[in-house]
Amino acid sequence: MVHYTCDMCGKPLLAEEDTRYVVKIEVYTACDAIDMDEDIDEEIMEIEETVEERDNIADAVDMLENGEYKTFRFDLCAKCHKKYLQDPLFLKSWRRTRFSEN
Ligand SMILES: [Zn+2]
Repeated sequence: MVHYTCDMCGKPLLAEEDTRYVVKIEVYTACDAIDMDEDIDEEIMEIEETVEERDNIADAVDMLENGEYKTFRFDLCAKCHKKYLQDPLFLKSWRRTRFSEN
């Protein structure tokens, strides 16, 4: 039997009793941040198309190695799921921390 615990409060989640919520977060560089060279020769474009698949894999490996693409997966209990949805980026917690430092 697979046991889960809530990643926020550490509460054990029982498969048959507790509703488990999964949070998946993907973090990566947005494509519009990459400057496209407008002077790309059409011939080069054609060659690039044929190796596109291989390039995509290389790019993905590059991104992983550079830490530009990251995924996070969290299991949450019903209580923490509700809390999480109210403040997904923990902005309230951040603000609270900043105020207490002043
Ligand atoms: Zn929890």
